[in-house]
Amino acid sequence: MAPTPSKLIAKKVVKPRKKKEPDAPAPDIDVEIRHRKRSHLMCRDFSHAWEWSTDMVGRRDPETKSINVATRVLVCLRCGTERYDEFAVPSFVLISRSYSYADDYLIPGIGAIKGDVVRAEIYRRMKNKSWDKERDAS
Ligand SMILES: [Zn+2]
Repeated sequence: MAPTPSKLIAKKVVKPRKKKEPDAPAPDIDVEIRHRKRSHLMCRDFSHAWEWSTDMVGRRDPETKSINVATRVLVCLRCGTERYDEFAVPSFVLISRSYSYADDYLIPGIGAIKGDVVRAEIYRRMKNKSWDKERDAS
């Protein structure tokens, strides 16, 4: 079940990235990818499954009192990642976008993961039948 909007707003703080220790070995993507949740692999391969979490609401400029920004929060139905968008009013051009990723979605020390790496891991799990077991377990 998706969290309620009030919980999402309270959770809006974006976690700072952990800095890699200077002497720590670089994470191995071929090892790390094997520990990713099924839903996280699907979101990385297909993109997130966005759904509304809040309505799009206007925000007033404190000086002019006119609504100059509209905001909305989306939530991924699969992994729980949240996306915060701000649009200029009245043009509705995107002016800001940020994310609060689900726990364990990001891999410290590793940036974006290429789609071919993700698909290879999905294939490996389907081939050894662990993919369906993960679905049954969730
Ligand atoms: Zn997702």
